[in-house]
Order: sequence, then C-alpha cells, then structure tokens
Amino acid sequence: MSHAPGPDLIAIPGPSPVPARVLNAAHRASPDIYGEALAQVNLQVMAQLKRLAGTSAHLAPYIGNGHAGWEAVGANLFDRGDLALVLTSGHFGRSWAEMLEGLGVIVERLDFANLPPDPARLAARLAADPEGRIRAVMLCQTDTASATMADIPAIRAAMGDHGALLVVDAIASLGCAPMRMDDWGVDVLIAASQKGLMCLPGTVFVWFSDKAAAQGATGLTSPWWDWHGRAGAGALWRFWGGTPPVQQIFALSEALTMILDEEGLESVWSRHDRLARAVWAAGEAWAAGGSGIRLSVTDPAARAASVTALTLPGADALRAWVARECGVTLGVGLGAPDPAGALRIAHMGHCNAGVLLGTLGAIEAGLVALDIPHGPGALEAAAASIARSA
Ligand SMILES: *Cc1c(COP(=O)(O)O)cnc(C)c1O
Repeated sequence: MSHAPGPDLIAIPGPSPVPARVLNAAHRASPDIYGEALAQVNLQVMAQLKRLAGTSAHLAPYIGNGHAGWEAVGANLFDRGDLALVLTSGHFGRSWAEMLEGLGVIVERLDFANLPPDPARLAARLAADPEGRIRAVMLCQTDTASATMADIPAIRAAMGDHGALLVVDAIASLGCAPMRMDDWGVDVLIAASQKGLMCLPGTVFVWFSDKAAAQGATGLTSPWWDWHGRAGAGALWRFWGGTPPVQQIFALSEALTMILDEEGLESVWSRHDRLARAVWAAGEAWAAGGSGIRLSVTDPAARAASVTALTLPGADALRAWVARECGVTLGVGLGAPDPAGALRIAHMGHCNAGVLLGTLGAIEAGLVALDIPHGPGALEAAAASIARSA
C-alpha cells in the first residue's frame, strides 16, 4: 500500500518548490499596466535583483526561461564570427555552447568532464591569445547536471589582464550560493525565476557591467533582445519588451523580500550550505563498504550548494519507488555516464531540514525495499550534520 498521499515533496533542481506566500502574491487580477503602482513594484524588484546579485550594474529582464537568458547574452555580446571560450562542466555548459554556435558565434570549449573548471588551464589558454581574439570566458557557476560549483574569483584571477568579458550562468546558484558580481569582477550574469529565486518559471534576468554595456549593439542584436533599452527603461513596458509579466512581478517581489529582508541573503547561503552538507553526509554513509553508491563530485569544495548528484545502481527504479510509495520526486541522472544509474537530490530555494530529511528518509526506504546495496547510518549522519550546524 502506498504511503504517498499527503504533501508532495519535489526535490528536483528546477522548477523548485514555490512557497505558498509567493503563489498567493501572484494570485491576483491584473492592475492597470500603465498605472504608477505597478511601475513602482517593478522598480523595487529590479533594485532587489541587483542586491541579490551584489551589483550596481545594469539589469535587463526578459520573459522567458534560462535558455532565453542564454540567447539574450549571445545576441548582445557577440557578432557572427566572434570567438567565445566556454568552460564546460556538464550538460548545461555544453548545451549553452551549442546554442551560441547556433547563433553564429565561434565557440571554443575547455571541457572539464563533470568537474568544475580548472583555473590553471584557463590561464594557459588565455596566455596563448596575446592578440585578444577571445571575446568572452563563459561558464556555469553551478552546472545543474553535474552538480558542481565553480570558483568564480579563482576564474577571474586566472583571466589576469586579458580583456575578455567574464560571463557567468548563475541560474542554479543565485540565491543559493555566494555571488558578489561587482566584487568578483563578473561582467555578465544570468539567472532565472524558477530555481533559487523560488518563483514560477517564466522570467529571466541578465545583469551586465559598464564594460559589457560599452560595446553597444552588434549584428546579432535584434530590437527585442537588445539589453540597453530594457536596462535603461523609463516606461514599464520597455523593461519587458511589451506586456509585463504582471503576476510574476508580484511573486518576485514577495520571494525577494523573503530572501533579502526576512531571512537575509547570507543566512540563505548558509542554509543551503548546511543542508547540502547533510545530503553529503548521507551520501557518504550510503557509499560505505563498496556499495557502488557514490557522490558524483568527490571534492566537497567542488560540490554545488543547491543540488547533489549521486551515482546509484538502480537509481531509475529507486526514483520510481520513492515517487510511487512516498510522494517524493527526485531529479533524473541528467548528463551522467549512466543516467539510469544516477540521480540528483535538489536542496534549492524553498527547502529546509524537515523537507530534506524527509527526502533522505524516503531514499533510505527505497534502498531497503529494492534491496539496493548501501552503507548503514545515512539518516543518523544527516541528522547529526543538521544538529551540529544548527
Ligand atoms: C535550468 C538551467 C538552465 C536552463 O534553464 P531553462 O529554464 O530550463 O531554460 C541553464 N543553466 C543552468 C545552470 C540551469 O540550471
């Protein structure tokens, strides 16, 4: 008999759980979109988003998903035939590189398999580009498939005085892990509403520095994608290139108030770090004794704060079991060498110790039910990790 009826637990890395407060904030009839009240809320959200990213730079919002953010960056930064250096650490970085190629950008990849970029390799490549052909260095702070965390300050340092722009996809990490765009010298940053921002899917944000802004439009910059008009908008419709996503603006306002003004950004980062460590403690316990289970990223410093990837024989059957019997949805083994034998546990955005321990407990039950070999003590280890870091 299933134990699933009751609240669903969604532990997938996006769309992440949306707090009831945020849903309720969106649940309203559209006001006058030419009225002052909505324009003010929009301006306040733009200011909150700059605080979230640690920047006083420019911000262009778009209606769209993360892929739309990728396209926005491509269309504003490059002309056909320009050279971009993409540091790939998994499925998302590789998809981004393909999308840029589709726009006509020449893409060179430095591939790090499913591990974070090595700054030394980047430095060596840039040293071999004295004429400055490489226009931008691009990477995911967290590649959501490999569940890695790049060291952005180390990447910036490795760029030395090469003139390339530093472009970071923080879609799976903004609002989960530290990001100090201005202090770290990030030129362009992308994040979408449905991950660490705890909102509905449908909006994406591109922050860009004065240096990135200074180059002006390129041959790829069509009017709708042009970030200058949006970032400098005086009228509400210009921010969004047409009708604003009214209900989403209210949802964003609520979510960003929760993150920035109620819990506080540093506390939000700390919560993600502490929850991640509890998952890693469980994963290490399951891995004991040569069970065949292992955390996909070995070095804790290279692991994401918002999602953990596990190699786990029988993962597909386990995911089906915990969904059917416990009402818990886990992430698929996207981009793993054997996707059917891998899964991902998200601890992204609206997540706390109760939800996380419930998710881990459901996995433990599934391992037992399906006779999947696993080391003992995972739940005790996770609980102890939570207790120690409370
Ligand atoms: C989810 C994600 C994307 C893609 O976002 P969509 O909204 O699915 O288009 C891109 N990059 C990263 C790092 C992501 O996590």
